[in-house]
Amino acid sequence: MIIGEGLERKKQSDKIVRVALAGNPNVGKSTLFNLLTKGHQHTGNWPGKTVVNAVGQFKARGVEFELVDLPGTYSLMASSPEEESARDFLCFDKCDVAVVVCDATCLERNLNLALQISQLCSRVIVCVNLMDEAEKKGIDINIKALGEQLGLPTVGISAGKRRGIGRLIDMLVNFKELSYFPIKIKYKSEIELAVSSIEKEIGHITKGMLPKRWTALKLLEGNEKLTKKCDEYLGKALSTNPKVTRVVNEKRQELVNLGIDINKLQDYIVASLVLTAEEICNKDVIKHRPTANYQRDLRLDKILTGKFVGPLVMILLLALVMWITVVGANVPSQLLWEGFSFLEKQLISLANFISLPTVISNLLIKGVYRVVAWVVSVMLPPMAIFFPLFTLLEDLGYLPRIAFNLDGAFKKCSACGKQALTMCMGLGCNAVGVTGSRIIDSKRERLLSILTNSFVPCNGRFPTLIALSTVFFVFEGAILGNLTAAFIVTIIIVLGVFVTMAVSVFLSKTFLKGESSAFVLEMPPFRRPRVGSVIVRSLLDRTIFVLGRAVSVAAPAGLVIWLMANIKIDGVTVLSLLSEFLDPLGKIMGLDGTILLGFVLGFPANEIVLPIIIMAYMGNGVLTDYSSLEQLKNILISNGWELKTAISMIIFTAFHWPCSTTLLTVKKETKSLKWTALAFILPTLTGMVLCIGWNLLCSLLNLSL
Ligand code: GDP
Repeated sequence: MIIGEGLERKKQSDKIVRVALAGNPNVGKSTLFNLLTKGHQHTGNWPGKTVVNAVGQFKARGVEFELVDLPGTYSLMASSPEEESARDFLCFDKCDVAVVVCDATCLERNLNLALQISQLCSRVIVCVNLMDEAEKKGIDINIKALGEQLGLPTVGISAGKRRGIGRLIDMLVNFKELSYFPIKIKYKSEIELAVSSIEKEIGHITKGMLPKRWTALKLLEGNEKLTKKCDEYLGKALSTNPKVTRVVNEKRQELVNLGIDINKLQDYIVASLVLTAEEICNKDVIKHRPTANYQRDLRLDKILTGKFVGPLVMILLLALVMWITVVGANVPSQLLWEGFSFLEKQLISLANFISLPTVISNLLIKGVYRVVAWVVSVMLPPMAIFFPLFTLLEDLGYLPRIAFNLDGAFKKCSACGKQALTMCMGLGCNAVGVTGSRIIDSKRERLLSILTNSFVPCNGRFPTLIALSTVFFVFEGAILGNLTAAFIVTIIIVLGVFVTMAVSVFLSKTFLKGESSAFVLEMPPFRRPRVGSVIVRSLLDRTIFVLGRAVSVAAPAGLVIWLMANIKIDGVTVLSLLSEFLDPLGKIMGLDGTILLGFVLGFPANEIVLPIIIMAYMGNGVLTDYSSLEQLKNILISNGWELKTAISMIIFTAFHWPCSTTLLTVKKETKSLKWTALAFILPTLTGMVLCIGWNLLCSLLNLSL
């Protein structure tokens, strides 16, 4: 049976027990699902949703089950389509019993979701998976104590090893006989009072179809979209009921009068959940056995998260990664470009052979082909080196240590420590960083993370930064040159981190007022990286994906640029006309019209900015080979570049609007044009201010660089 796509949302028969499988991503849900259904599954979209849920059936001890695998989510706050889909299913599609799968190796974080679901569904079974992994890592989990603390039936399993599955099935078969008395999450006393007043007004409307306390909290939060769905589900007006509306408004106003920011209610709720999970785990539920690995991790953590050594190691590691990227990318880039140039000659011969009109062959070969060849030669090598190195650090478990080191600083900026993680993701690709912001529970902090993500330069900007640093700052041999280039890119990234924090403070005091929410950073143990999977994941998932996207925009961009450089109005090319138009603004920023035009036309992908500029300078409408850096330097200098122009360009490369893909992702994640516009304006304004400031400084100090 496929559920969704407008098909029946009800079970086929009342005899079938419908089980919802929920959990954080990567906790072994699919493994358990496949184990139980033995592969008897279908996937379907829930009506109106793009999120895919797998549905499967199985029979155990004479009872028929329908298992619905909900999307992996960290919370039910509905900040992403996955969370909304999972919440709506649990809320309105009604399952007989919900199984929340948790990861035993990081139980505390996983309990956050289990607690949320326990407040929403009447029958919840907590299934702690990966018990074998936890055991290996010296983490002992007392399942009985956990169940008592949660007030819910709880079972420990190792789905991967098929252990404990029988106990879980026993529970499912006897789900009606189990006792469910979930722990009550205690909120701030002011919120508790407001919730209980609303509860009194809604009991006769919810009539057991929805949990009163949960519904009251949602009404208090003012979650309009959800309460409308509740109206529909109940078949009665809840959100528009005059009595309910009056009491909700009254209570919201009372909270405001008590100094509680009503827009931050979700942050308070998350804080209470985090605190409850922490309290539960502290009550003899989790014990760490001092295994050799555990001791080693402790020692390593002391160094990596030390007050002074921690940040130092972080910067050195970043510089090392950049250095390896720069050194490793030079030769393959050159070879690729030579390969593409050779192929180009063959293509030209072929075009001549088939008598292709010159205009068409120039447009296709010197326009489209060359830009694509440029993007591949310049981007592929650094990406193929940077992404695996980055994935290696990720796999090792180093990224949470970065978050830990930056946690205090981000909190001081009223942001969330997890923003350090999304920032790291942004180094690879800002669109990935924006999507990754889903790991942040609080809506305000998530927006902070989304809006500031492009302040750290993505991989697409590295080639420009590396090329300019090498050309303008390197005066000596290769090793020193590579070191200098890596050093400059590292400085730019560190500057990006500082600007991210400054902008977070600005936003927290203006558009996104609020304090940092209580978020307890959990430090996962170090893992030995799985080199094979690192290479596969980083090359296939990241490199090919990002490169594919860049090439797909570079090809049409090459066409447009070629046309603009070859179509003339009154003897002047369109490219030159536009450059002249932008020249005054460019000059104020220490750039020129052509450079600005490069940035404008490079909107689809950052990596094509520099080639466009070179093309415009050469004026022949053909992307020129500047594989020799000396040649590049000559082209730039003959077009009026000085050292300070290069610095302005480096600044604007690091701080300007995000590429079109990132902006589309911001729009998708925030569902708001306002936030998307702000994501565009903030880095652009920052870049302009920094460039103008730098040039003013040069004039004031009479610096002739
Ligand atoms: P999902 O994202 O929650 O669906 O997680 P998956 O089912 O894809 O599992 C994530 C990873 O954990 C996979 O590599 C599984 O093989 C592994 N895994 C799942 N259950 C267990 C388990 O009980 N023990 C161990 N050691 N690995 C497991």
